[in-house]
Amino acid sequence: MSQPPSDLDLKRKKKRKIIIAVSAAAVVLVLVATALILYFTTCLFGNHDFSPADCEHPEICSRCEETRGEPLGHDWKAADCKTPKTCTVCGATEGSVADHKWKEADCLNPRTCTVCGEVEGVPLGHIWVDATCQHPKTCSVCQATEGEPLEHTWIEGADCQTPKTCSVCGEQSTEMGEHDWQPANYQQPETCSVCQETNGTPLMPSFVANNQEVLAIEDYVSAPYTTICYEDQSLTTTGTVNVITYGVGEITGLPDPPEGYDWYVAGWNIEFFDDNAQEYGAWYDWQYMDYYDYDLFTETFNPGQYDTIDFSVNYNGEIFDQCRIVADTITNEWENDILTFRQNISVLLPIGYDGFVMAFYNKGLTNNDSGLSGFDLLDADSVVYRFGAMKFPGDDS
Ligand SMILES: [Zn+2]
Ligand SMILES: [Zn+2]
Ligand SMILES: [Zn+2]
Ligand SMILES: [Zn+2]
Ligand SMILES: [Zn+2]
Ligand SMILES: [Zn+2]
Repeated sequence: MSQPPSDLDLKRKKKRKIIIAVSAAAVVLVLVATALILYFTTCLFGNHDFSPADCEHPEICSRCEETRGEPLGHDWKAADCKTPKTCTVCGATEGSVADHKWKEADCLNPRTCTVCGEVEGVPLGHIWVDATCQHPKTCSVCQATEGEPLEHTWIEGADCQTPKTCSVCGEQSTEMGEHDWQPANYQQPETCSVCQETNGTPLMPSFVANNQEVLAIEDYVSAPYTTICYEDQSLTTTGTVNVITYGVGEITGLPDPPEGYDWYVAGWNIEFFDDNAQEYGAWYDWQYMDYYDYDLFTETFNPGQYDTIDFSVNYNGEIFDQCRIVADTITNEWENDILTFRQNISVLLPIGYDGFVMAFYNKGLTNNDSGLSGFDLLDADSVVYRFGAMKFPGDDS
């Protein structure tokens, strides 16, 4: 029998459906919630939560403490005198500090740790080597220098042709040494003995100083000569002096000259022929002189035996004291109204010397005054010959 459902039945059916629906929803909810809780509180789904590895630990799961991989290990920096062995990553240390790293002391610094700068002791100080002309004072260890090199020590004796040389280093100067000046003499000005450079002029000869002219005997010049008459000394006569012979070298009959000397031999005559001479004769006189150093000549003039006279001359600055005059006897004779005197002399002189002088003067000048000097007796009446070098044919001078 079927009868339409009652209201009550309908209500019951509806209520059952609702209950079933609510229950199913609740179950689902519970299942979902449970799953979520499990997910977040456990690693059941393989969802580990690893923290990163460090020096000492591998990766570790924060929930289940499961690990993965290996610890990274420390990155050690070696110990030094300030810090023990230390990990640069985590700062972990191991052991104690190391010894200092010493750098040994030197000239300027004490023993010093290159790491921390700690010092020990004092600097050694430089070991100085004395300065030389090439190097200043220098430390033999570090080569430090102080001051300047010394002056060179020039060797004595460098001359004007030789550069100065240092006795220490052998360096040669750009400067030459000094001239070796030899004093002026009558033949040469002040002269360097090394290079022959000269300075100034020779000494002035006495004859130049007295403004007295001379004849060169080697020119064989005849000259007028005036002197007093022998028998009336208020009168004068004028004759002629003639050079007859003149020679230099070894002379027959005379001893060999000493080393450095020559014999100079001269002969002359004097002829008088004027009226006064015819009537009253002639009285002549002469003197020996020196062209260059008249004072030396007169000071050393020393008459000896047998008509010899010793004297000295100054030649090239050297005193020659073995000079000697040897005079022959004077002769005189009248021949064809001419009164002729003749004389020869031989003179030892230094080889090459050209200063010996033979002077004929007016005898009247000495009559009242014997204290006159040689130059006082020379005037326009005089004839003065200077002995010089021999001239030979072809000589230019
Ligand atoms: Zn885990
Ligand atoms: Zn570490
Ligand atoms: Zn240190
Ligand atoms: Zn040093
Ligand atoms: Zn030097
Ligand atoms: Zn010189």
